[in-house]
Amino acid sequence: MSTLRTRAAVLIADDRARPYAESRPIEVMELELHGPGPGELLVRVDAAGVCHSDLSVVDGNRPRPTPMVLGHEAAGEVLELGTGVTDVATGDRVVLVFVPRCGSCAACAGGTPALCPRAAAANTAGELLRGGRRFGQRTEGGLRGQPIHHHLGVSAFAEYAVVDRGSVVVVPDDLPPTTAALFGCALLTGAGAVLNTAAVRPGESVAVLGLGGVGLAAVLGAVVAGAHPIVAVDPVAHKRELALDLGATHAVDPTTEGGTVGQVRELVSGGVHYAFEAVGSAAVLGDAWSATARGGTTVAIGLPHPSQELHISAAQLVAEARTLVGSYLGGAVPERDLPRLVELWRAGRLPVERLHSSSLPLDDVNAAMDALADGGAVRQVLLPHG
Ligand SMILES: [Zn+2]
Ligand SMILES: [Zn+2]
Repeated sequence: MSTLRTRAAVLIADDRARPYAESRPIEVMELELHGPGPGELLVRVDAAGVCHSDLSVVDGNRPRPTPMVLGHEAAGEVLELGTGVTDVATGDRVVLVFVPRCGSCAACAGGTPALCPRAAAANTAGELLRGGRRFGQRTEGGLRGQPIHHHLGVSAFAEYAVVDRGSVVVVPDDLPPTTAALFGCALLTGAGAVLNTAAVRPGESVAVLGLGGVGLAAVLGAVVAGAHPIVAVDPVAHKRELALDLGATHAVDPTTEGGTVGQVRELVSGGVHYAFEAVGSAAVLGDAWSATARGGTTVAIGLPHPSQELHISAAQLVAEARTLVGSYLGGAVPERDLPRLVELWRAGRLPVERLHSSSLPLDDVNAAMDALADGGAVRQVLLPHG
């Protein structure tokens, strides 16, 4: 088992005020990285997307143990194999997946690996699937020798990552790393919610509330599914324009007259067949519910703070034969879905690279969190090796 040194972006505390470029909740520092152990891999991280779920750990909306090396949407190359890993080779290009797959539980065997209880326990503890952490402890900077945690089994805001075999899917060499990274979270989650969780059919109407990387990936999924019309909702004008460019038929600014619900219902009489919430707000999920037609389905993708609650009419749920469904990891089976999504990208039907808004060095991670929190950025990608 080897040990190497890696520069990594470590979240020190989740209670710092914005702007993060000044309060610096994340410190970039050199860490020791041990491994890979049995069933694990060492990956050189070539690109890592900055996703709202990273910001949610920084701002405390998604409570996780700190210190923690953030980053859960990434692509890279396999450099070293732990013992027992025989179906991946060094030199393989991989996309990292933020729910590791144990492969032997009922959820994994039943085609719902996003619900793997071993993965959930490891991710909540900030450990790898087989237990424990692979980072050496530090006493410099804001650290006082505490164990440094992994983020969702990935921790990709670093030059190198040790991950479980169940955290990677091998992808073709011709996929550029900045594009490949986005497949790991935005595409699996957003397009997956449309294609797997909702299973939207041609001609069915869709509204997507929130046009970050995941919401725009849901728009791409709706286009591929043949949905019509597709209503894209976001207060930021350039995100609405991008959604229209990607195939949305209408765009709605929720801050203008009628709000989301009034405007969506005006465009699609009676409401949409499927409304997707991709903000992480119970209030926006309530809007999605109200914009959904009788007999329709409201899909929750975003992750609000655990204290937020949604209040709906129980009678309406029954009498209007509605469905309210949560979608985690887009209901995906990553080994099955990633190759299909990559082939759609190759055919020009999933222009994933359009979601990539900028590339940044690891040292800009705090400013990247500010840009994401401000709502202007779609998908910023960190390049740990420059
Ligand atoms: Zn994500
Ligand atoms: Zn499992």
